[in-house]
Amino acid sequence: MNTTPTRLLIHGASGRMGQALLRLAAEDSSLQVVAAVVRKPPIQRVIDGIPHFAASELAGAPAFDVAIDFSLPEGFDPILALCAERGVGLVSGTTGISDQQQAALTAAAARIPLVWATNFSLGVAVLAELVERAAAALPGWDCDIVESHHVHKKDAPSGTALTLGESALHGGAEPRYASLRAGDIIGEHFVQFTGLGERVELVHRATNRDIFARGALHAAKQLRQRAPGQYRVRDLLGNVI
Ligand code: NAD
Repeated sequence: MNTTPTRLLIHGASGRMGQALLRLAAEDSSLQVVAAVVRKPPIQRVIDGIPHFAASELAGAPAFDVAIDFSLPEGFDPILALCAERGVGLVSGTTGISDQQQAALTAAAARIPLVWATNFSLGVAVLAELVERAAAALPGWDCDIVESHHVHKKDAPSGTALTLGESALHGGAEPRYASLRAGDIIGEHFVQFTGLGERVELVHRATNRDIFARGALHAAKQLRQRAPGQYRVRDLLGNVI
């Protein structure tokens, strides 16, 4: 068991998730943020004392054990390439990546341990399992997934909604999607199965984005110990709560 702190590179550090990651990592002595990467310096919001630099200077990043990426699809390729080149792990929560980027991720998993997930919360991992079971148990019922997020969210339907939709498909349902963008909602996913004269409703509400950041930090510690491969959140979350 390695007892030295896991050295992290945080990619997308000035964003909402990046800021939560920096704050929570600073409270954990088993983690050391060695680089905070932002799209454009200077940045005001990054916690003092953490070395930070621009995405255009990524190649010059100091040595790190695992990168955590919560940026945008256009930032995904460079951080995946850097991790593959250095032979270190990648935790990515960036949503909206293309099929081509998914294929690059799968190819990189032959060389490095990585996890890409649309949602790092334990609650959503459980919800995905419940949706699959409900879909299998309710053949022929309509399945609708309604997701709500803050007005700044770029992709729709959300990555989490699509992940829940895959679970529904595995269970035999044919999911439909609806998206709401309103105010400062962190993330709500409502899955409704509708039969004749009855409905089953499953819902997850995120009230704090720390749940995603905690899951990603936990995944980073786990990945450091793992062999190359593509892991799922449920493989890594284990006893986090
Ligand atoms: P945000 O807009 O607040 O932050 C995005 C950050 O990425 C910004 O700091 C921006 O400067 C940076 N960025 C953009 N392009 C870049 C590039 N080319 N290179 C480097 N950095 C770049 O967004 P957010 O709310 O923090 O969310 C970030 C991502 O994480 C989104 O894709 C969002 O959907 C996703 N997300 C995932 C989860 C999960 O659990 N998987 C949870 C919440 C959000």
